[in-house]
Amino acid sequence: MRDTNPASNRIALLARRLPAVLFTAFVLALAGCSSTGTSPAKTVQPPRNIIILFADGAAATQWDFGRYSSKVLRQQSFVTTDVVFKEGALGALITSPSNAYATDSAAAGSAMSTGFKVNIGALAVTPDGKPVQTAMELAKSKGKRIGLVTTATVYDATPAAFSQHAKSRRAYQGLVDQYLALEPDVLMGGGADYFLPEGAPGGKRKDSRDMIAAFRAKGYQVVRNTAELNAATGAKLLGLFADEDMDFEIDRDPAREPTTAEMAASALKALSQAGPNGFVLLVENENLDTASHANDAASLMHALWAFDDAVRVALDFQRSNPDTLLIVTGDHETGGFSPTYALKDLSTLSSKNRFYTGDEHVRMLARITMSLNAVNEKLGRKPSGEALDELVAKHFPGFRLDPDLRDAILKRQARERNFSRVTQNLLARMVARQTGYYWGTAGHTTQPVLVGAMGPGAELFRGYQDNTDFGKHLHRLIHGK
Ligand SMILES: [Zn+2]
Repeated sequence: MRDTNPASNRIALLARRLPAVLFTAFVLALAGCSSTGTSPAKTVQPPRNIIILFADGAAATQWDFGRYSSKVLRQQSFVTTDVVFKEGALGALITSPSNAYATDSAAAGSAMSTGFKVNIGALAVTPDGKPVQTAMELAKSKGKRIGLVTTATVYDATPAAFSQHAKSRRAYQGLVDQYLALEPDVLMGGGADYFLPEGAPGGKRKDSRDMIAAFRAKGYQVVRNTAELNAATGAKLLGLFADEDMDFEIDRDPAREPTTAEMAASALKALSQAGPNGFVLLVENENLDTASHANDAASLMHALWAFDDAVRVALDFQRSNPDTLLIVTGDHETGGFSPTYALKDLSTLSSKNRFYTGDEHVRMLARITMSLNAVNEKLGRKPSGEALDELVAKHFPGFRLDPDLRDAILKRQARERNFSRVTQNLLARMVARQTGYYWGTAGHTTQPVLVGAMGPGAELFRGYQDNTDFGKHLHRLIHGK
């Protein structure tokens, strides 16, 4: 068929004159990447503010579990899936680091913060040892205010990868020192231990510095519990609510530790107070990852709801400030989470002996009142059968601990090489046998993560991309291009 399109006629003419490789590059440049929305030529309205809601360890299965359990048990929508993913631009990210297929949070966070692949354990330092600019450093250099909020320690992999540099994520004391130098306007989470010297209660610093006092001297309002946070009026906030990680939602004491939503609301209040150039805020819930390492479906469910409540706060802010870009994402999947069907017992392989996980099973999860990590802590290194039976009876109503699992817990014996959190993984198997909430591993998996975005620049995140693309888009939007 004869082509009457003048543009394609010109391309055909060029094809005869240009070497093949150059010609291909020319056509690709003309076409852009319109299907993924990542065309470098496409003009994008840069947002004034960027809010990144970051669910460590969450991919599609976790998100859908949040949606499903919210609908059945809370009779309410799960805004991550029902609003942000549904109405916003939706994409997926490949999560691999530079030196493996499966990643850790430091490498994944670094790629998403900088646009560069790094090795496992590194924070915004490439394999050849070069530090690369983080999203928060760039934001600061552009006169934006910056905030980092997490349920983990503030120096944990994700907030650190978004703001600073280290060859090892475990150089905690140095990471706190870097925060003092960077001066994020809002810094909130656990990890008071590396702000205080060894002699002080809970302190772990090897030098004698009191970093809480040092932050105060730089004009920070310091808050240490929920009431202090909710009363805070400062434009610069340091919130430290636990010596180490903050508690799981299922175990949380509301007077001592605020929710993720309360932290998000306070951070937005502080960051939107001042500054002509807007802000970039990262709000992470780390407990989804921690619960998934333990294969703890009940704790994961409560953490998902707590995270989603924070998304709701950010979404309300985005709706009244439409020049704000809201992004909801995660860094990798944890646990190989796989709600499924299974045999009721091993008496027969007949399909009549099979159950499909459903509403009655998620209702059983809702009756659990303690995290598997808390059970493990209570049992200690030499668990007694009596203490174990008592904890199961009290906090896992309706669950039966089979003798094979009970024996392995008491002997602290791993049954597979990828299930190293013995007590938690074995109690999780008890839960799985009666509910169908099985898990494939105690580690991270290679499942791509989802990205949902709403507001100016959201379209860049659509499609199947690499996690370094996420970082590149973020830099471009912070640059205002
Ligand atoms: Zn993890």
